[in-house]
Amino acid sequence: MGMLPEEVVPVRLMATVWADTSGLHDDLRTREDLDAWLDDVGLERGSRHSSSSELALARRLRDAVRRLAAQVTADDRQPPAVDLDTALGDLNELVTHLPVPQLTVAAGKLQATSSRGASPIVTGLAGVAQESIALLGGPDAAKLRACYAPGCVLYFMKTHPRREWCSVACGNRARAARHYEKIRSAR
Ligand SMILES: [Zn+2]
Repeated sequence: MGMLPEEVVPVRLMATVWADTSGLHDDLRTREDLDAWLDDVGLERGSRHSSSSELALARRLRDAVRRLAAQVTADDRQPPAVDLDTALGDLNELVTHLPVPQLTVAAGKLQATSSRGASPIVTGLAGVAQESIALLGGPDAAKLRACYAPGCVLYFMKTHPRREWCSVACGNRARAARHYEKIRSAR
């Protein structure tokens, strides 16, 4: 199970880069990782396994949404992995892989179909790109937050006014760090 399973899919994609006391971790390093992530968030991949180009696409999308989340949240925790224009370009390119409705005629009868060609995995990632565009460029962007618990690199949706951290564990660590700081400065 990946990080922050309660969050929306774009935020869960951002959370495939996470950190603990041993450093940064990446949940999308291999094609098997991508298969597991797609299953985890409930994206259909049929009987297919991810290809290396699909892994590269997923990683580009992930880096893009993290970069754009940093923009939205004025996140200054770490230097961005990609520049803003690259992130926008990658996101806007990927969304064009969504199936497009088409009208065809066969034996005088009109029929609605949709464009094909892309694999279910590319289509699924394009769907995540679409959701990311709606999130980052829509009213919900105001709820997106960077988690400032010590060492955390995650983003989360501020779903209620008192929520300050991505997770209970981060809240506990942040409170412990504050407490420790208070004790130290009182000495
Ligand atoms: Zn956190």
